[in-house]
Amino acid sequence: MFDPQVLQVVAAALKDARVIFIAAHIQPDGDCVGSQLALGHALRALGKEVALALDDKLPDNLNFLNGFREIKPREPQAEDLFVYVDGSDTGRYGKAFNRARSGARPVILIDHHITNEPFGDLNLVDPDAASTAEIIFQVIRALDVPFSPDMAQALLTGIVTDTMGFRTTPTTPETLEQGAELVRAGASIPEIIDRVYNRRSYAALRVLGYAIEHSQLQANVIWSAIDYKTLQTFGGNGNGTGGIVTQLLTVAEADISFFLAEKADGKIDLSLRSRVNADVSNAARRLGGGGHKQAAGATLPPPFETAAQRVLTALQQETKP
Ligand code: AMP
Ligand code: MN
Ligand code: MN
Repeated sequence: MFDPQVLQVVAAALKDARVIFIAAHIQPDGDCVGSQLALGHALRALGKEVALALDDKLPDNLNFLNGFREIKPREPQAEDLFVYVDGSDTGRYGKAFNRARSGARPVILIDHHITNEPFGDLNLVDPDAASTAEIIFQVIRALDVPFSPDMAQALLTGIVTDTMGFRTTPTTPETLEQGAELVRAGASIPEIIDRVYNRRSYAALRVLGYAIEHSQLQANVIWSAIDYKTLQTFGGNGNGTGGIVTQLLTVAEADISFFLAEKADGKIDLSLRSRVNADVSNAARRLGGGGHKQAAGATLPPPFETAAQRVLTALQQETKP
């Protein structure tokens, strides 16, 4: 839990500002975009001007959220206040974080990562929260703004995606209560599930098939990897590999899964997942990334050929079974 006083100070700072910059993290997901959009809608309801920043390609499967098209790569400009959501360190925001440009104007971090570096002037951080959206829910409450259907749908998207549909361990009674309130305010779980999970491209389905076909089980770790050239042969835009690591962990013999996807620039995206008896956040941190106990990630340097061994070594060093 965060300090309730910090929540009040954050709400007061947001009320005082006129133009507010809100940034989501790179390699975006439903939680950062949902949190960003919901806070943006709430601040607009208070008459504020809002700039929505994201220094990466937008995930197509979130385009059902109102306001999605206003999110674009931008750097801090003349805004009064800078809010960063759901990314644990400044590197997760790309060009959207720039102290040289934002200067002495206040920076607020709102996040729920256990590997968090509190880089804001105000840090509203709760590592026990299942999603950043749940913290934004409380911010909007503290602002005294009633939930509109757009706010509700954006927040519920954050909650549903980070809890994988209320399935992960950080899901608490409070998470479910917030979900119920958001549904009452006009949000729709069936729409979120349909748009986010049940609209994989055919190319992404075939990448999943490749990943399963080439998976390896070593002790309690299941993993798979795809190089950029092979990824290209399936066509598509490289979107949609996000769920693969979760699929791998459905294997009974495994407690940990990871998936490696080589990018065009030779760097490698690593996704890690674990059951509750293992913690992958420390291994991710050792590899230069971060995340949560049960879901973490990192960006690895080349070469692709040694990447899996590097991850296996980090897991051996860092995982307490
Ligand atoms: P993903 O596997 O991409 O869904 O990410 C799982 C979790 O790990 C998320 O909470 C991310 O915020 C975190 N994460 C992923 N990649 C990185 C990274 N390069 N640096 C820090 N955290 C990361
Ligand atoms: Mn996120
Ligand atoms: Mn999150």
